[in-house]
Amino acid sequence: MWQCAKCGTQVDDDAWVDCWKCGANRAPEEALVPVFMPSLASILLHHEKKKGAPLTEDEALAIRDRATVVMSPVSVAREVEAKRGYRDVEPEFCWLEWCSLRLTLANEEKA
Ligand SMILES: [Zn+2]
Repeated sequence: MWQCAKCGTQVDDDAWVDCWKCGANRAPEEALVPVFMPSLASILLHHEKKKGAPLTEDEALAIRDRATVVMSPVSVAREVEAKRGYRDVEPEFCWLEWCSLRLTLANEEKA
């Protein structure tokens, strides 16, 4: 038996993944994901503006490695992202994603 975190209903059958009353997911153990505070994208942008020239791959990775990361449950990470209004750079693909984000930002500035 488990209790729905949303409406408090007792769900008798553990095999049920969703609450029979409100349909909320049982959400067992939530995975933790790294969330950059502030976002990795904004930190990189800040450094690039300070430098006055495009960051090199080494610089971008060094900035990422020094940035503040908070391990947060997936649901919290999604909320942060929704409030921010854009998807942050994936730390694993930091350099590639930063390159494509920079192009997007440059195009937005032109428009
Ligand atoms: Zn429920």
